[in-house]
Amino acid sequence: MKPTFYVTTPIYYVNDKPHIGHAYSTLLADCLSRWHGAQGEETFFSVGTDEHGAKIAEAAAKAGKKPEVFVDEVSAEFQTAWKALNIEASDFIRTTEERHKTVVVSFMNKLKADGHVYEGEYEGMYCVGCERFYTERELNEKGECPDHKRKPKLIKEKNWFFKLQPFVSEIIRDIESGKMEMYPEKRKNEVLSVLRGGIEDFSVSRQNVAWGIPLPFDTKQNIYVWVEALQNYISVLGYNADEAHQGANFKKFWPANVQVLGKDISKFHCIFWPALLKAAGLRVSKRFLITGFFTVDGQKMSKTLGNVIDPNDLVAKFGADGARYLILAQFAVGEDGDIKAEKFVEKYNADLANNIGNLVSRVATMATKYCAGVVAATKFRKNIGEYKKSFAKAMEQGQVYDAIEAVIQCAASVNKAIEVYKPWEKAKDEAHSSELKKMVSTWVGEVAEIGTMLAPFTPEAAAKITQAFADPNHIHNPGILFPKIK
Ligand SMILES: [Zn+2]
Repeated sequence: MKPTFYVTTPIYYVNDKPHIGHAYSTLLADCLSRWHGAQGEETFFSVGTDEHGAKIAEAAAKAGKKPEVFVDEVSAEFQTAWKALNIEASDFIRTTEERHKTVVVSFMNKLKADGHVYEGEYEGMYCVGCERFYTERELNEKGECPDHKRKPKLIKEKNWFFKLQPFVSEIIRDIESGKMEMYPEKRKNEVLSVLRGGIEDFSVSRQNVAWGIPLPFDTKQNIYVWVEALQNYISVLGYNADEAHQGANFKKFWPANVQVLGKDISKFHCIFWPALLKAAGLRVSKRFLITGFFTVDGQKMSKTLGNVIDPNDLVAKFGADGARYLILAQFAVGEDGDIKAEKFVEKYNADLANNIGNLVSRVATMATKYCAGVVAATKFRKNIGEYKKSFAKAMEQGQVYDAIEAVIQCAASVNKAIEVYKPWEKAKDEAHSSELKKMVSTWVGEVAEIGTMLAPFTPEAAAKITQAFADPNHIHNPGILFPKIK
């Protein structure tokens, strides 16, 4: 049996259109899925949209639409954007789908039957923007939500609660032992300090939120949107609380190998979600890949500033490959960083059109001109082997930025070797003929390897490189891979 690899993205709230932040996490997961697939693993890559809750109901009302109509429209925009970016997801799950509701209902019933939930009165500060309660100390000095800069609503209502306490020490142990891995490391300490700081039980239902899935054992309540949305990671695999009817994909792919998420939602993914899974008798995801915050040209992305980047616009200008590359090649995964939108054209031209594009074209041209398209099998030069190794190590970690750096440096190093060797000079003298052919053969092999490395990032161009360099008896020019952009 093939090893399996299951990677998830967070499912995105449909209160807003897809922007570059959504595209970033989705591309990150897409690259990992493609790479693990290329290593011979059977992959499952899930994406989707989070469509219930007060925030969505508010956004729909603002748009003058019924929530069900509104969520259909916005979810479709996400699907269109992912198609344009050449995202190869195995499935797209929507939390308004029946298949999701069925799983959630059976999951909640199981929690109830096994005594993991209890009824209680809750009074707390709720931020609709975040769809979560805040404790006093989590608010800023003005008593506002640190993200939305508005005062949360004081809510007093009857809720059902999840007994978190029995799982706290177990989760701490899993994190410390590395059974539950977190990347980057610094996020681990943040989550541990929340766990050790005395974390309260959380509510699994809401009384006055109309747009949601009814709690099966108390239908006057709707399931708290976060508790329900987290279950998308198993509903997409066809999880069934009844083991006799367990979904084939769930059996095959759970637990997830990598769950990609933003650092603002780590409490939900690295504490609440593992606890819910444990309560249901399920294994916890192996690895949480946590992304940082970003700015655009040094400023926070906002509608007011007009600097929101629509991934569709990037695809229109740079093509799917170019857009994928520019979104991922900005800063290290897990760090806060700046997306240098002003430098997109410059970066595209430098890295893709000039470095990679020129290299492929010049090596293909030499292969046809000096070797009549026929090359011999050769070994990579030592430094190319090193780039290959650091590339693989970075991909294994989910550090796609470092992987991209390795490919770019690798291509630059082959370009440099060509400049130093000056094949056009050697070609003038018949005495150098066999040595020249050997050199060109080496470069052909190295460029083919660069094509393989590029596959997760720029899949269309990579396929063209592979196709043009695949047959050693017929190396040909794949044409312009990355047209220069003004
Ligand atoms: Zn908020």
